[in-house]
Amino acid sequence: MNRFIRAKSSRHATAQRSIILHPHSSSPNNNLTTRQKVAAVVRPTHSSAPALWPLIHRSTKETSASHRFPKRPSPLPIFVAAALLSSPLAKAGEPKQLFFVHGASTHGYGYHAYAAAFRMLARILNESVIGLRATVLQEHDDLTPLATADAIVLGSDEGRLVKELSKQLVPLMAKGIGLGCIHYTLDPGEPRAVAQLIEWIGGAYEQTWSVNPVWEAHFNEFPVHPVARGLRPFRARDEWYYHMRFAPDMKGITPILQAIPPEQTRQGPDGPHSGNSFVRARTGMSEIVAWVYERPDGGRGFGFTGMHSHWNWAQDSFRTCVLNALVWLVGAEVPENGVPSQCPTLEDLEVYLDTPRPETFKVDYFRKLLKQMNP
Ligand SMILES: [Zn+2]
Repeated sequence: MNRFIRAKSSRHATAQRSIILHPHSSSPNNNLTTRQKVAAVVRPTHSSAPALWPLIHRSTKETSASHRFPKRPSPLPIFVAAALLSSPLAKAGEPKQLFFVHGASTHGYGYHAYAAAFRMLARILNESVIGLRATVLQEHDDLTPLATADAIVLGSDEGRLVKELSKQLVPLMAKGIGLGCIHYTLDPGEPRAVAQLIEWIGGAYEQTWSVNPVWEAHFNEFPVHPVARGLRPFRARDEWYYHMRFAPDMKGITPILQAIPPEQTRQGPDGPHSGNSFVRARTGMSEIVAWVYERPDGGRGFGFTGMHSHWNWAQDSFRTCVLNALVWLVGAEVPENGVPSQCPTLEDLEVYLDTPRPETFKVDYFRKLLKQMNP
């Protein structure tokens, strides 16, 4: 596809920078000037220095609404997003509002972990991106604040939130609010909800047309688009849905992640999720698993079919891709090398999960898995 370019292979050219924040007042960096602080806290993502990934411990009884990160000190001026103020939705001097809304995790420890993922992403954005305020709500919270959103990201199984919030979303989408949908959120089942998703974010999972196998995708090329900034070729094993139903003629859609699935993933028996003749006919073809969409009225959409596995957040480009998309969704400028974030350890990722580590959890296996994610 000629709109794609071969991703740069030069480590120097594409090296991501990671920002380490010092949120505590006792930080030795407090005696430095702002410029010195920024210089002092930037180091390569893959540095062997001890991780300073910000950790927060949560009671499983707490609701996500209580985790809006209001007590954190002001973030360092990692980048001043002057473009934040250029959006028609922006009010001068006020941060862009990004709201995450999630349902429950239903697939066991570390899978379909919408709440955990959203807490982590919100934390990174609130600490790294000036002019953006991210808030995590769960589905049973008071959702009236969504009326103030510049963009909303939904995470729930069977596209439930797409259906349940439909009445609330219709006027917001008409206003040009951004919308992102992650993983099973993209599969609401009902044709009406599928059509709404296509209208709002350009694509959706359509049963008996799309499939949801688990496979290792090899992403080698990326488009010239802000959401692809800082991405390097990478591999990620996930339940990557593909052969999604997209807007007619792909109008307004920019594929961000696409890869050629293994042939056996096309060969499932006919069914709403297992296989169909349309997928089987596309042998050897590349499939889109993440995309952005610009509605005719200017509103923005983002679809990301992965995130079955919480552990994939330790893959640098996987994480950066989603962070970039969230910044883009609210109409802000994505940094030249992508939104900076430090690669989390296994324990870092577990902090955000709602339940304690099960006794059967194979720590060594997952530690090894994470170690292999960023070769
Ligand atoms: Zn899944």
